[in-house]
This record gives sequence, structure tokens and C-alpha cells, in this order.
Amino acid sequence: MGEHSENLWAPWRMEYIRELAGKDDGCFLCRYAGAPEQDARNRVIWRGPTCLTTFNQFPYNNGHLLIAPLAHKANLEELDDNCLSELIRTVRDTQRLLKATISPHGFNVGLNFGRCAGAGLPAHLHVHVVPRWDGDTNFMAVVGNSRVISQSIEALLALMRTAANDLGLPPVRG
Ligand SMILES: [Zn+2]
Repeated sequence: MGEHSENLWAPWRMEYIRELAGKDDGCFLCRYAGAPEQDARNRVIWRGPTCLTTFNQFPYNNGHLLIAPLAHKANLEELDDNCLSELIRTVRDTQRLLKATISPHGFNVGLNFGRCAGAGLPAHLHVHVVPRWDGDTNFMAVVGNSRVISQSIEALLALMRTAANDLGLPPVRG
């Protein structure tokens, strides 16, 4: 996720930011959390008692997922142990799901706190799970547009439904 890939994704990012600016959607994670009946449309993969898992709307890579508490909390210290445990167990499960579907060579898993640290939505914390492949920066130069990624999310979801079942993970909702 160096400067190179930031630049590659800038056109889509700007389109996305303009789109958001035209609406007043507030916090999209809270919107997702409050609308389980919309999970398929919102591509919410999993919804547990305290956390949900969804696709990043402006991914750095194929299969870039976000795991967030259902509650609008900015900091880990505001989460109870139950939620913290579900958060990290879900990281584990998303890695299993992604390994079984798109065979990443590695992962970036992380949290950004505050806009200065790169958080796009600092008020509602979320763990990024970003699959990585050897040479993926070059790959993204080839496929770096929203239409291609959008199609691959549909294909990936289909693979995820099967893999979740095979692995004994919770059924994929989105
Ligand atoms: Zn929120």
C-alpha cells in the first residue's frame, strides 16, 4: 500500500468521495449495522453478535475486507473483551476464507486511528484485512478500475459462499 498503489487508485477514490459528498449518509458502518435486511446489497459477509465484516468500498486489492464493531466506537478502549475477542476471531476467519478462495501470498491486517494516521472513517474503528500477492502492485496497474473490481467482488462472493460452507465457517450473507 505504498505511494504507487495510492496513485493507481486515486481516480476511483475521487469518484467515490464525490459520490459520498452528494449524499448525507453519515457513517456507512452504522448504516450497515442497522440494516441486516440489506446485508446482501451492502455485501456484508458476516454479522456476529458484536461485529460485522464487509468489503472495503475503495479497495487496495482484490478481497480487501473490513471488520468493524456494530457499535459506533472510535477506539479499542471503548470495546469490551467480548467484542475485542469477536473482532480478532473474525480476522482469523476472514483469513481462512480468503486463503481458501483467492490464495493470497500474504496479508496486511491493521487499524488506523485518526485522519493523520490514514483513517477514512476515524469515528468508527475497523480492521482492514488486505490480501497481498507477490508483485500485486504491478497487477493492480493492469486491473485498476472500479468496474473490474466490482465484477470480481461478485465472483469472489460466490467462491466465499462455497468455501465458508466447506470450512465450517458461518454462512456468507452478502
Ligand atoms: Zn458508525
